[in-house]
Amino acid sequence: MTRKTVSIIYTGGTLGMRPSARGYVPAGDLGALLEERLPELGADSMPAYALTEYERPLESSNATPRHWYDLADRIRGADDRFDGFVVIHGTDTLAYTASALSFLLGERAKPVIVTGSQIPLCEVRSDAPGNLINAMQVIATGRIAEVAVGFGSTIRRGNRTTKVNATELEAFDSPNFPPLAEIGTHIRFGEVNALPADAGVLGRQTPAYRDCNIAVLPIFPGMPARLIDATVETGACGIVLSCYGVGTAPTADPAFLAALRRACDAGVIVVAVSQCLEGRVLLGRYAAGSALADMGAVSGFDMTAEAAFTKLHALFALGLGRDAVARHMQENLRGELTAA
Ligand code: ASP
Repeated sequence: MTRKTVSIIYTGGTLGMRPSARGYVPAGDLGALLEERLPELGADSMPAYALTEYERPLESSNATPRHWYDLADRIRGADDRFDGFVVIHGTDTLAYTASALSFLLGERAKPVIVTGSQIPLCEVRSDAPGNLINAMQVIATGRIAEVAVGFGSTIRRGNRTTKVNATELEAFDSPNFPPLAEIGTHIRFGEVNALPADAGVLGRQTPAYRDCNIAVLPIFPGMPARLIDATVETGACGIVLSCYGVGTAPTADPAFLAALRRACDAGVIVVAVSQCLEGRVLLGRYAAGSALADMGAVSGFDMTAEAAFTKLHALFALGLGRDAVARHMQENLRGELTAA
C-alpha cells in the first residue's frame, strides 16, 4: 500500500492553546509543539503530512460563517495534492464547521476529519495525541469518504454531530446517527455509511460566501412573540426554530402565531428542529405542531440545529429563492437528515 498524504490544517482551538493569566489562549507554531510532543505523527507507519497553520489561530467561539467558506476554499484548492484532510479546530463551534463543510464541499469524496481536543497538547494527559493519531489512521484506511468529526473513541458524520459534553474527553455525539467508526484496539467501521450519491443542488453549484443572516431561536415558556419580529427586523432570511419535542411551540398564543405568519410571509424560511437531543420533528403529531406548518414553517426532521443552520446558509449562499431553499431544506443532500 502506498503511503497516503494528509493535509493537516490548524485553525486554532484548545489543541494548540497555551496557558495565560486569563486562561488558555490560541497560540501559533503548532509544528514545533507537534515535533516535541507527538513525534510519532511523523513515523513511517503513519501517513505523510503537510501542516498548514492559520496565521492567527482562532478561539473557535469567534468563528463566523466566513471561516467555513475560507476553510472549504483551502480544502478544494489542495484537493488534488492530498488523500485527505485533518482540520484542527476548537470544540465549541466544531460541529458548525463540520456541518458547514459537508454542504460546502458538495460531492467531493476525499475524507475530511475535523478534530481538536479538550486538553491542550502542551499539557500532560492531553487528549490531542490520540485524537490526531486516530484521525490520521482512519484516513489511511481509505474507508471514510466524507466530512467527519473524529473525537475520543468515535468517528462521526460531521453534519450529524453536536458537542454534548463541556469537560469530558468524549465531547461529541451524533444522537440520530450511528458512529461511522469506533476506535478501540481496532478501528471498527459501522455499516450505515452511505451518503446520497447525488448532493442535489449542492452537487451542481458551489456556494460562495454571502452575508446571509440566519438566526437560531429557542422556544421557551413565555417566549415573547416580538422576539420573532425583532429577528425578522434584523434582516434574517432564515430562522432555525428550536422547538419542544416533536416540534411544538406556544401556538395557543395568537401573538406568537401572528409573528410567525408575518415572518414566513416576509419570505423568511422558518425551519423547525427539536430541542431534544434524540428523535425527530413530526409537525403533524400535535395540533401545536400542525399550527407551525400552517403558518409556513418547514420540518427539519432529525437535523441538528448546527446542520439546519449551516445548510440554510449554504443554500442562501447559492442565491436560491425562498421556495427552492424551503424545498432543499427538506431533502437529504449530504446525509444530514432522515426524512419521515
Ligand atoms: N474554547 C475552545 C474553542 O472552541 C474550546 C476547545 O477548543 O475545546 O476554541
